[in-house]
Amino acid sequence: MSNVLCQIDHVSVTYHGDVDVRAVQDVSLTIGEGEIVGLAGESGCGKSTLAMALAQLLPDNAFVSDGRILFKGQDILRLSGEELRQFRWDQVSLVSQSAMNSLNPVLTVGEQIEDAIWSHQGKRSVETRQRARELLRLVEVDPDRVSSYPHQLSGGMRQRAMIAMALALDPKLIIMDEPTTALDVVVQEQIIQQIKDLQRKLGFSVLFITHDMSLLLSIADRIAIMYAGQLVEQGSSDDLLVSPAHPYTQGLIDAFPSVFESRELVGIGGSPPSMAHPPSGCRFHERCPKRLSKCDSQEPGMIGVGAAHHAKCHLLEKGAVPSES
Ligand code: SF4
Ligand code: MG
Repeated sequence: MSNVLCQIDHVSVTYHGDVDVRAVQDVSLTIGEGEIVGLAGESGCGKSTLAMALAQLLPDNAFVSDGRILFKGQDILRLSGEELRQFRWDQVSLVSQSAMNSLNPVLTVGEQIEDAIWSHQGKRSVETRQRARELLRLVEVDPDRVSSYPHQLSGGMRQRAMIAMALALDPKLIIMDEPTTALDVVVQEQIIQQIKDLQRKLGFSVLFITHDMSLLLSIADRIAIMYAGQLVEQGSSDDLLVSPAHPYTQGLIDAFPSVFESRELVGIGGSPPSMAHPPSGCRFHERCPKRLSKCDSQEPGMIGVGAAHHAKCHLLEKGAVPSES
């Protein structure tokens, strides 16, 4: 693997409320320099929470309750004030799912890109306006759109403008949380291609979050799968496509149309558990078509199934006999 850029090390995130909810539990994941890492799972599995922890943008009632996050070797959970502000744009930026909600409706796109540059470099000048135009050109939006308001742009253009903003300060890592979910398939494919091209040209790393496995298989170098707050499998995209080791990963792959073959789609039965009261044993046991008798009481460990391919399932233990399903 390339040099490690970011290391998420046994991280848990807890939300305070009437009951405390551990939305992320004991997750370890590394992101290499120039690598596109995909993070998949159904909504509510903790993937956005993990992304927020990484960007240091958790809401006030949430905090990293265990573990550490190293970015270029530095523990970002210990950053404060100015260091944190610098980190958020210089090192990491975030593209979220709804550009309409993230862009300010009363400012032009150009003003918003300039603000991102200006608030960190302390000056607004002819150069910042020029830079905003360059950034729009980079994401293939007409640079004259600097003077358009968000509502004057199509959904795809708004999302490209968000990507331009995210690129404004040349971050090392861009977190993309469902960046194409609100778009139609054709625009979605164009934007994915654009992200890949930009990544190759500029060399940043990406943490790409989505519930759509087929999308992830086409963009990510490596993929991590989350279920009910835990990481249940990680490996290269090829590993996961060719030989998914966890029944949940298999279910996710079967639930989306393949870009490689036509086949019948099968959804995963049941729904994700409540995070306030996660199930005992393997958290997936209530929905697992292959569960063993011990799965409801004993939590499986993470087991290696290949060089950099791991999954958290009792079936991978020596001598395990899958039940008929
Ligand atoms: Fe299924 Fe058991 Fe594996 Fe969990 S540990 S995924 S219930 S077989
Ligand atoms: Mg989410």
